[in-house]
Order: sequence, then structure tokens, then C-alpha cells
Amino acid sequence: MAFVNPFRLPGHWLRGNTHTHTTRSDGELTPEARCAQYRERGYDFLVLTDHDLVAGDAESFGAEDFLVVPGAELHPSNPNGGDIYHIVCINIREQIDARNLSVREVLEAVRAQGGLAVMTHPYFSGHLLGDYEPVPGMYFAMEVFNGIVERVNRTGSAELLWDAHLDRMGCVFGIAADDAHAAEIDTGRAWLMVRAGDLSIESLVEALRAGAFYATQGPVIENLEVEAGAGGRARFRVTSSPAAEVRFKGRTSTGTVVCAPEGGAITEAEYICTGAEKYIRVVVVDREGKRAWSNPVFLADLAT
Ligand SMILES: [Zn+2]
Ligand SMILES: [Zn+2]
Repeated sequence: MAFVNPFRLPGHWLRGNTHTHTTRSDGELTPEARCAQYRERGYDFLVLTDHDLVAGDAESFGAEDFLVVPGAELHPSNPNGGDIYHIVCINIREQIDARNLSVREVLEAVRAQGGLAVMTHPYFSGHLLGDYEPVPGMYFAMEVFNGIVERVNRTGSAELLWDAHLDRMGCVFGIAADDAHAAEIDTGRAWLMVRAGDLSIESLVEALRAGAFYATQGPVIENLEVEAGAGGRARFRVTSSPAAEVRFKGRTSTGTVVCAPEGGAITEAEYICTGAEKYIRVVVVDREGKRAWSNPVFLADLAT
């Protein structure tokens, strides 16, 4: 799959949360109040993902400057090792009886509706690669960070499993999301910045499907340059909001970490690959430890 660099695309940056609960399942705010809350906090889009329930009327909660996308969080059973699946579905409009379907059947139904599936909070669910291997390529992303799970039991981060997937199973994009349940304290913990042509479901879904986004708890990735090089010696250069360190993460121990001087901050960092990395993804870490995650760039996908 060709690498799509969101920083090279025309369009606009849209801030959004892809994982949200309301009083229609176990969230504490009504759909109206939840959507108003995110809009007031400066978000551009929100995906409503109540458990087992598609929000077919989601768009009616939007405004001219705020897009609400129909979705659901679906729970097929899991015979593959971990707990029951929690699959966030973006842009589905028809109900799917997931509790009575296999994970493959659910993912096929999501695809048939033109939707996108996200494997959520894998650490919280006890998921390892074995839970994903029966359905390769049928989901476009996994949650590398989930806000409520981090708040409640500090297992919101899934970077280890993300790297295992990238190394052993191939590309999957990384999402950070609130998974908002509580009225206030879950909102604004983690979000996506998506490079889309305009504020429409069609443009948003197209951008998500292509990986034209990054995930963040706060740090801003301002630019990412990627240049192919002979022998896999690709050059990566990132500029960002003030950072304590920038990680260029390849498979296993490849890549590097560029650190700010003691007490200082950096706003740019560069890495030239050795050819052993397989892929590189960039993580910008601020002085509070908050992170922003680029999507992975597979070196084989770069034209030389
Ligand atoms: Zn869940
Ligand atoms: Zn959820």
C-alpha cells in the first residue's frame, strides 16, 4: 500500500474523537449534550459509538461547523484467546447483530456498509496478535491509546502490540480516542488530527481509510518529511510543538530517540534509516509525557 503523507495533502486539519458513548448505552450525557460538549471544545467531528447500537440519526446532532458520524461499538464473541471483542465501527448506518455473529461476520458486515472498523483498547481486553490473526486486513486501525482505560487502570497504551502487528501482520493505523463515558472527565484526553478535503463524512472516511491522520494526547506534529533513499536509507524529518523527545520507532530495536537538552525542548528532529527498520513511526513526547503518534511508514512502500 502506497504511503500517504497527510502533511503533503491539500485540505484541512480536522480534530475529532472516534469513540464516544452516550445515555443510549453506558455514557453519562445524552447524544445532544455529548455532541454540544465536543463542539464547544473546538472539535470538528465526533463519531457516536454506543455499545451494540448504531446511531442512525447521528448527523442530526451536527452543525455547519461540526460533523457527527454514525457508528457503534460492537461485541462479537472471541474464541481466539482474549476477552470479547470491542470493535468501533465508523460510518455504519444499519444495525448489526454482533452478539450473534462471529468476528469475521461482523467485520464483513461493516465493510459491506462502507464502514471502517477499529480494534479498540487491546490491553484492557487482554488481546494479543492471536486475537487479530483470524481476520487480517479486515480492520483499518487499532487504538494505540484509549483515554478512559488509561484513566481507570493505566492500560490505555498499546504500543507494544502495535509494533508486533506492524512487524508480523503488516500495516494497521494507530488511533487515540477518549472512549468518553463520564460526563466531563473523559473528554479531551486523546484525539485524531485528520487531513481531509472538507468537513463531510465522505472526505473524512476517505482520509481515515488512507491513513491521512495522526493521533495525539496534545503534542502537535507540524510537519513530517519522508524522502526515500538508496538501500533503504530513507530520511525522516519531523517538526512539532516543543518536545522533550522524538522517537523514530522501527521494528524491534531499530530506529532512534532524539532528546532535548536537560530542561529544554526541541521542535525538530531527523533520522536517516540504516535499511534495517522495515517501518518507521514517529512519536513526539512532551515534557509532561503526553504523546503524539504518526502512522507507520513502511520503507518498502517508498519509491526510490
Ligand atoms: Zn470498549
Ligand atoms: Zn467504548
